[in-house]
Amino acid sequence: MQPVNKSAKLNNVCYDIRGPVLARAKQMEEEGHKIIKLNIGNLAAFGFDSPEEIQQDMIRNLPSAAGYVDSKGIFSARKAVMHYTQQKHIKGVTIEDIYIGNGVSELIVMAMNALLDSGDEVLLPAPDYPLWTAAVSLSGGTPRHYLCDEGAGWLPDLDDIRAKITPQTRAIVIINPNNPTGAVYPDEVLKEIIEIARQNDLIIYADEVYDKVLYDGVTHTSIAALSEDVLTITFNGLSKNYRSCGYRSGWMIVSGEKKHARDYIDGLDMLASMRLCANVPGQWGIQTALGGYQSIDDLVAPGGRMCRQRDVAHELITAIPGVSCVKPRATLYMFPRLDPKMYPISDDQDFIAELLVAEKVLLVQGTGFNWPHPDHFRLVFLPHEDDLREAIGRIARFLEGYRKR
Ligand code: PLP
Repeated sequence: MQPVNKSAKLNNVCYDIRGPVLARAKQMEEEGHKIIKLNIGNLAAFGFDSPEEIQQDMIRNLPSAAGYVDSKGIFSARKAVMHYTQQKHIKGVTIEDIYIGNGVSELIVMAMNALLDSGDEVLLPAPDYPLWTAAVSLSGGTPRHYLCDEGAGWLPDLDDIRAKITPQTRAIVIINPNNPTGAVYPDEVLKEIIEIARQNDLIIYADEVYDKVLYDGVTHTSIAALSEDVLTITFNGLSKNYRSCGYRSGWMIVSGEKKHARDYIDGLDMLASMRLCANVPGQWGIQTALGGYQSIDDLVAPGGRMCRQRDVAHELITAIPGVSCVKPRATLYMFPRLDPKMYPISDDQDFIAELLVAEKVLLVQGTGFNWPHPDHFRLVFLPHEDDLREAIGRIARFLEGYRKR
């Protein structure tokens, strides 16, 4: 029989967050090992339940959610998103500019598929949330990574962005607040990025799925609020701010000057129609979430569970010799650095796999986020404080052994 191979389209597609090390962890669990998972930002799995009122609204609407609906989403959800854009000071958005999807993930793939032809380039942050890079490759485009500067709190390196622009560059992606670094970008940086986009005729794609998961009184500005001319697509959803990853409910907002983008928008409409519509029960949660629920504020406020866990994780991880880490100002993640002089790692996936086997702690290697050097890892600080203390204690023990090699 002929071998059945995956398509060539997938040759450059990589998504290591659920990669081979996770498969190894599952196998170990089947063998009876208990693994502490610091690998995925799945809030409900760690007792961060979705808000009761969102659940109740979905349950109440379930009987009327059995049919297909408008491909771009139900009216109440899109209207609620429209009000949200007003709160975020994004100008000129109408119901027609809003698309509801099966999570932000689906919309990212759709947005890239509608845009890219072979040879088109997209600027993406390094490190990034790797779905973005994977979606660019899958759509036939070429990812070009611009560096974020660890020494400057992981802000985008604007000179590196400028240096990576070519005549083929179509768009720039920013992830703000950032996964995996926890950085939040100040308005000055956002304005510079807008200026670069304006001068080079780039579309801005802004992934803002953590825009309420903010610590230390930090505020978030949507980049779309800072320009009325640059075509900007903003992504957000219920997964993180409303602890509802499993409901698969997200949205995408087209703002800025659209006259010249009619054809692209037709492409988006076509892709939305081809999958008929997004999961309808998930859409019913949007109005409730955006309309009244006070989001995640109590959890991220000083003394709140997430804030405490961030503080504990950061304190313990940076107490390990040779480990440094910019303290996250947002999100569920931190991206610690291992001093290469003390930890001369050549393959960080192997390193993470070794840690898993030795200590039953699961992390994701930094190169999985398209970071170019094998000297970082991402840590999710969602487990309860006791589990975090236990896990980081085990990481410390593993690293001590590593230093003695
Ligand atoms: N964007 C970022 C930066 C993320 O971290 C994630 C999930 O972890 C997503 C998008 C996907 O979100 P959704 O659950 O809405 O598909």
